[in-house]
Amino acid sequence: MNQTMTTDAIRVMNRDEALAEAFRCLMCWDAPCTRACPTTIDVPGFIKQIAYDDLIGSARTILDANILGASCARVCPTEVLCSGACVLNDLHERPIDIGRLQAYATLDVVFGGTELFEPTPVTGGSVGIIGAGPAGLACAAELTRLGHRVTVYDASDEPGGLNTHGVATYKMDRATSLAEVEFIESLGVEIRPSTAVGTDITVDELIATHDAVFVGVGLDGVPPLGLVGEDLPGVQDALEFIDEVRRGNADLTGERVAVIGGGNTAIDAVTQAAMVGAERVYLVYRRGRNEMRAYPHDIERALTHGVEFVHWSAPKRFEGYGSVSSLVCERTEYQGGKDGSLRLVTIEGTEFSLPVTRVMRATGQAKHVGFLNQLPGVETDPGGRVIVDGGFRTTNPKMWAGGDCVNGGKEVVNAVAHGRDAARDIDRELRSGAAGK
Ligand code: SF4
Repeated sequence: MNQTMTTDAIRVMNRDEALAEAFRCLMCWDAPCTRACPTTIDVPGFIKQIAYDDLIGSARTILDANILGASCARVCPTEVLCSGACVLNDLHERPIDIGRLQAYATLDVVFGGTELFEPTPVTGGSVGIIGAGPAGLACAAELTRLGHRVTVYDASDEPGGLNTHGVATYKMDRATSLAEVEFIESLGVEIRPSTAVGTDITVDELIATHDAVFVGVGLDGVPPLGLVGEDLPGVQDALEFIDEVRRGNADLTGERVAVIGGGNTAIDAVTQAAMVGAERVYLVYRRGRNEMRAYPHDIERALTHGVEFVHWSAPKRFEGYGSVSSLVCERTEYQGGKDGSLRLVTIEGTEFSLPVTRVMRATGQAKHVGFLNQLPGVETDPGGRVIVDGGFRTTNPKMWAGGDCVNGGKEVVNAVAHGRDAARDIDRELRSGAAGK
């Protein structure tokens, strides 16, 4: 197996560091770390295997539960998931660094070419998967290992979804994501990049070709705010910018950047902008710091890169000749209504301008409503999320769905859990001959 070279964004532990960290683990019988993981990786189990120098066994424990365990080791918010639940926190000690141990354990198998899984003979059906993001890849890998023939259709020229195009490079770079995709392909998964369902292959063709279909299309881009001047050059979607950085096409040297939003994409964009040379970086958010959806550890990282937080401020319009040169904002505050509720309102007469050369929207991604409406019999809720049952089957009995298009946008590890569990349901249905009936 010839894996793509990676330039890892995290420093993977060496053997001595890993052994020292593994021996700190108390191997708790009730493993709160495992319960905090959406894919329920047996954390004390794989750490014990590291302690016994059984790296292959450790990788198997991780990858059996989470085939994207290598990327989850890098992009998961471990501070609030597994390591956040570690009992050592209660003892006022440093929690076990589960993410870096996981990265260490999976390194040789996922990126080094060490064979782990035997090829599985095809004994089942044919499954088409829409989208080669974390949900689609996890579903594809699990189905392949269960003996089904799987084809993944991806509109992008490079598979991997958010892992390849949308996470900050200081968490995981593009090459690492693409190397993990190669590992998934080595299991027997066929991926067709640059193949958009609905354009390059019709939905009807897809349904007719396969015994079952899994929809893992994630979310769309950030929709416009509808403000004056938004079409000026220099105003863009924060995710487009992150993809530019990941492809090595972004240099903001000397630029003044404002990012609008208070979630994880906003915090990634501001930090990333500072790291590619921006002179000043503002994060404009309409509420206070305690109400930001971004994780506290990511906010701290942004602060260490000199990002300036402009709280209680909402964008009003974009100004500039030829390209954006200022972002005009208004101050905001909560006002109490007669019924006791609090409403966020802008305060008249508080306009102010931020001099900028670039503004990025990170105010929440849209759903792929237009595409989802093309899927026959697949219903969505009023929020545009695909409705599924406990096995991730949609209202079309031949179609399953998972990941962000179902949960509205959570972590990579949540998408992996959906894809894996949907695969197990599809396997049960295909082997009972019930899919599509
Ligand atoms: Fe080890 Fe912490 Fe998990 Fe306990 S909670 S098993 S100490 S990682």
